[in-house]
Parts: sequence; structure tokens; C-alpha cells
Amino acid sequence: MRPFQNNGLVYYGFDLFAPFEELVHGVFTRHGGVSPPPCEGLNLAFLDADREDNVRTNLDLAAEALDLDGLCFAGQVHGDRVLVVGNGDGCRPRSRAEVRRGYDALITRRPGMGLLVKLADCQGVLLYDPRTRTLGLVHSGWRGSVKNILGLTVSRMVEAFGVRPEDLRAGISPSLGPCCAEFVHYQNELPRDFWDYEVGDRRFDFWAISRDQLRAAGLKTEHIETAGLCTKCNGLTFYSYRRDPVTGRFGLIAGLRR
Ligand SMILES: [Zn+2]
Repeated sequence: MRPFQNNGLVYYGFDLFAPFEELVHGVFTRHGGVSPPPCEGLNLAFLDADREDNVRTNLDLAAEALDLDGLCFAGQVHGDRVLVVGNGDGCRPRSRAEVRRGYDALITRRPGMGLLVKLADCQGVLLYDPRTRTLGLVHSGWRGSVKNILGLTVSRMVEAFGVRPEDLRAGISPSLGPCCAEFVHYQNELPRDFWDYEVGDRRFDFWAISRDQLRAAGLKTEHIETAGLCTKCNGLTFYSYRRDPVTGRFGLIAGLRR
């Protein structure tokens, strides 16, 4: 990943997607947003701890930075449901009451519309097929990993838009790294096939789990990029739920140019 600055914001882009000029994307840091503590910075989620007008301003700043018409997002519930966003779907909430709850992955081919997943330690994964110009965004915390929402989202892209998994590229956002992903109760929480990913001391490598799930879904190894940045121990660049239980959410955003 490399950093970019625009509209007063700082965000990272995956190197893997640089050749595709029709695609814009960014992993947004907290820098440049208007929210005060405890969500200080570019908080992109409607939460009790922040005012809705701050969030609306932050959403607009982020959409402008990538020259997108607006941001489509859902109420994430650590589930495995995928929303296909077509023409005329009005999933651009401007208040908490307008948020459609129950989806942790979004797929679209619609130009100009940005997709957003909100993160604070969970993984955000950007999937893009340059052949059919289909993009998908996935929110996957450990519960999402257990449900293999990555594999389910790839299947949905295949069914809905004729995507070939071997054409798909995937970028895995900053998230809780193996340095900090401690699961004291892993024997109750994680399936046995995840235990191989323990890196010591009840800490687990969920980046490796995601890479293996993507490969099992048919992606090529060279089409997967991992940011490799831990949200908890990278200063205050990103929001981290494990570091600060009351905090904001940063965004992984992607869209097709108009
Ligand atoms: Zn860490």
C-alpha cells in the first residue's frame, strides 16, 4: 500500500489495483475528519458516541476525495449476507435511521457509486474483477472468518455477474494483526481448522486465514495483497476497538469512475 492525500484526508491505496484506472479506492486514516473525541477524526459510522452531522460531513469528505457521487453502506452485523447494489437502490443513508441493517458484504457494477465498509480492527477486503468490472467489499471480523463470508461473496459475484475467480484481485485492509489478535477462549470461539493459524500465546493470524479462504475460492496467490498493518498497534492512524472500546470507524471505500 502507498499513502495519498486529497481533500485534507490521508488514505492508502493497494498497489495491486493501480493498473485499473476505472477503479478508485482508499483505506482512510482518521486524519482530516471533523469528529471530536472519543471518535476523533474521520469517523464514518453513525454511532452513539458521535453526532450525525459530523458523520455526514466525514462521509462527504471521503466521497469527494475519491470523486464519487455518494457512499453506499449497510448496518454490519458480523453475519454473512451479501447485498447486490444495482441501479436505483437507495442505500446511501444520511442518518442512523436510514441505515439498512444486516449486510456485511456489498457488490456492484454501477459506476459513480462508492461502496463503504466501516472498520475498527475487523478486516475490510476489496475484491475487483477487471474483466467484468465488478467490485465487492467485505467486512470480516473473526465471526465473518468463521462463516467464510469471503468465499460466500466470491460465489455471489460469480452467480450475479459471471465473474471468474481466477480474474479476481483482493486487497486485505489494515486490521487486528497476529501481534494483537489474542483469543483467550479460542477453543470455544474458533473452529478446529483455525487452530493451525495460532502464532503463539493464543494469538492468531487472520490475514493468513483470509488468504487461504480466498485461494480456496479460486483466487490466485499473486492476486492477493495484504496491507499487513495492525490497527491496534499503529499509533492513532486507525480506529481500534480493542485499544479504545469507545471509538469511531474508519473506512475502506471503492467505486467505479463515472
Ligand atoms: Zn498489533
